[in-house]
Amino acid sequence: MINPFQQTIIGIIGGGQLGKMMAQSAKKQGYRVIVLDPQIDCPASQVCDQHIVAQYNDKIALKQLSDLCTVVTYEFENVDCQTIKEAIDEQKFPQGTKVLEISQNRLFEKEFLTRCHINIAPYQAVLSPQDLDKAIEKVGYPCVLKTTRFGYDGKGQIVLKGIEQLHSARELAQQSECVLEGWVNFEKEISLMISRNINGECSVFPVSENHHRHNILHTSCVPARLNEGVAARAKQYAEVIANELQLVGTLGIEFFVGIDDKLYVNELAPRPHNSGHYSIEACNFSQFDVSIQAILNLPMPNITLHSPVVMINVLGQHIENVYRLKAQKANWHFHDYGKLESKENRKMGHITILTKHIDDTLLAINNTHIWD
Ligand code: AMP
Repeated sequence: MINPFQQTIIGIIGGGQLGKMMAQSAKKQGYRVIVLDPQIDCPASQVCDQHIVAQYNDKIALKQLSDLCTVVTYEFENVDCQTIKEAIDEQKFPQGTKVLEISQNRLFEKEFLTRCHINIAPYQAVLSPQDLDKAIEKVGYPCVLKTTRFGYDGKGQIVLKGIEQLHSARELAQQSECVLEGWVNFEKEISLMISRNINGECSVFPVSENHHRHNILHTSCVPARLNEGVAARAKQYAEVIANELQLVGTLGIEFFVGIDDKLYVNELAPRPHNSGHYSIEACNFSQFDVSIQAILNLPMPNITLHSPVVMINVLGQHIENVYRLKAQKANWHFHDYGKLESKENRKMGHITILTKHIDDTLLAINNTHIWD
């Protein structure tokens, strides 16, 4: 008899670190994996069964992926929805394109969240530079102008503290459609991951507390150190959002926690998220495990946290010292994504540290002086 696990083939569009960790989880579960990515030695190519080397919008290659696979998923949100609709068999793409379409555009995302009665920062659309002055009048300083599309890790954004930044803001509005957001005086940034299968069952992960440096995620601590009730409210928001979206697969939700403990949703990411990497070691199932389970419409597990945990990102400028650090930290989990070339601020890997005391662990990280 042919082993049915081996006949289930997962196609992943995108072969970066998220695709790699998704492929590793799928392989652990016994499935075969085909990755589509233009880069020959991309991270996921090192762990998959087959690699289709092609651009993400190559219709012929996407069609080939669809023909070869049982189900197709993606590791990043900027895939072209129209191309996907034309190239991939609808039956094999249970996630659909609706969530992608909403999360690819900050304005659509904000309109969606407003319809769901989810609290967000005040905003105004800036579809042309002429809209800017009126938008600033309504939102007020300080505020932040963000391109509606293709922004990540703080790229495509200008913080306006006052009229001094108006010129740069106009330039950004000239280049792209934007949205102007009111500044949130937040106490903390948190996020959580939710996965939902085709039947509508959800797995919700513990809330993580995130610290950024230069707009790039630096550390995630779980459980987040929050006042009572805030984490529960974040989970309620997540379930409302997942159900309203008819989500299939995994969604990362970033929040600001205001000084009055009010929650603001900042951003949705329709895929596993950097702040959920801790789940590989710290939870009974990882965000990658449940992503695969969700798209195969398998039952969704209740997520439990085995231990408090700190995750720290390893960027290009840290990699040499982190390589040496591995010889000193037997109990730290080092992940290297397998990128050959390291560059400043390029995400190269991460470290997960299970701990009894998050503060002591943050101190131990500081004492390495690698992230000073
Ligand atoms: P984003 O790309 O939207 O996640 O923004 C990158 C970072 O900029 C966030 O993680 C926040 O630290 C900061 N930021 C973005 N929007 C706002 C806002 N409306 N109020 C305060 N801080 C913000």
